Amino acid sequence: MKWYQKLHWKIIIGMVLGLSYGILAATMGWQQFTLDWISPWGVIFINLLKLIAVPLVLTSLIVGVASLSDIKKLSRMGGKTIAVYLFTTAVAVSIGLIMVNLFQPGKSIPSELTNKLKASYQETVDAKASNAKKAQDRGPLQPIIDMVPENFIAASANNRNMLQVVIVAILFGIALIQLDNSKSDQLVNLLDIANEVVLRVVDMTMFLAPYGVFSLLANTIVSVAGDDVSQIVDLISALGFYCFVVVFSLLLHAGVTFPVMIKFFTPMKLSTFFKGIAPAQLLAFSTSSSGATLPVTMERCEKNLGVEEEVSSFVLPLGSTINMDGTACYQAVAACFIAQATGIDLTFGDQLTIIFTAVLASVGTVAIPGAGIIMLLIVLEAIGVPSAGIALILGVDRILDMLRTTVNVTGDAAVTVLIAHQEGQLGEAQLSDADEPQFRMSRDE
Ligand code: ASP
Repeated sequence: MKWYQKLHWKIIIGMVLGLSYGILAATMGWQQFTLDWISPWGVIFINLLKLIAVPLVLTSLIVGVASLSDIKKLSRMGGKTIAVYLFTTAVAVSIGLIMVNLFQPGKSIPSELTNKLKASYQETVDAKASNAKKAQDRGPLQPIIDMVPENFIAASANNRNMLQVVIVAILFGIALIQLDNSKSDQLVNLLDIANEVVLRVVDMTMFLAPYGVFSLLANTIVSVAGDDVSQIVDLISALGFYCFVVVFSLLLHAGVTFPVMIKFFTPMKLSTFFKGIAPAQLLAFSTSSSGATLPVTMERCEKNLGVEEEVSSFVLPLGSTINMDGTACYQAVAACFIAQATGIDLTFGDQLTIIFTAVLASVGTVAIPGAGIIMLLIVLEAIGVPSAGIALILGVDRILDMLRTTVNVTGDAAVTVLIAHQEGQLGEAQLSDADEPQFRMSRDE
């Protein structure tokens, strides 16, 4: 197989072409054409990915839990998973905090620019603030109440309720463990087949990935640039230092924390990990949604990194909803940047509050594009920084969202490999060409 026939290269080529086309379209005034004829393919691609998420989590998690044979193992794995997720998120926030305090990007923003940006984004800020207020007004136990659905069909009808689907699947799986094998085996086999079917749909969808990614990136550039590409250049040059600190912190977390975890706590080679997970990372970057990327993350962890389904089917869906290292790291930098730009001094206590609230806010962030900035408002509120400050960073948020989502997905995969190793469920990694998505024309091929 030639290099350009490999999936991740095809996706990279799709991304580069999408970016180039987007810039060309914004310069030539092809916005309407792009919105009418190019963007819909990206929407179709994301819809296909989202379509797979609920059936995949449901079938693989029920089979995974049912095959555990004892419930103690599940609770041990659950406790460990949540602890590692929270720990890595706290590390990510701390990295962000250290970097933003070291570089102080907010101090370099001239006050006229602060005022201009605030004025131009005021309406959007108001809308986001009211969403954040709703999230904040809920009682302390509301997140736990939200995890338990009152109706299964309603829970599986909305991808945002993934945690509810996870709970239902775990309940079903535990109930199956308690049945006689002669009875439970039939249902488990059936779900296993259903799971394989869903995985084939993931494969078929991945054939479209290069085109989907092209369309998504073209659409992002055209919508951010509007009818003036120089707008992006202006924004990036004004907020370049802030973007640099966010990107640098994310790179540190992805390039140091995860590699340390993989290298010192698992037998996996770093290159194997990053090669195996690359298509999921590229997809996370292009879709800005760790929820939409979940089917591919699961497939790569199982097929290419050798994680047993028992672990991946539990750890990954949970991670895509509660583990957002990239988001938390970005929230820490963004909150401090806004405080610095608006001349508010943060005490040591405020910094600790940021660690605590950013970890919780990232847990509560939905795995969709742009959700992180809504939860950022909760962090701002906690340290007494006016929420209008997010106007400063809204313009570049879409681009940073792509990067933080990539880190979120990488974090989920790294923790999954770690937990799999600890549970004795990490097999041989398979990075051969045979793992490229296969499309068979008939059953006999
Ligand atoms: N887009 C991110 C995700 O899906 C969430 C965020 O906005 O930070 O992981």
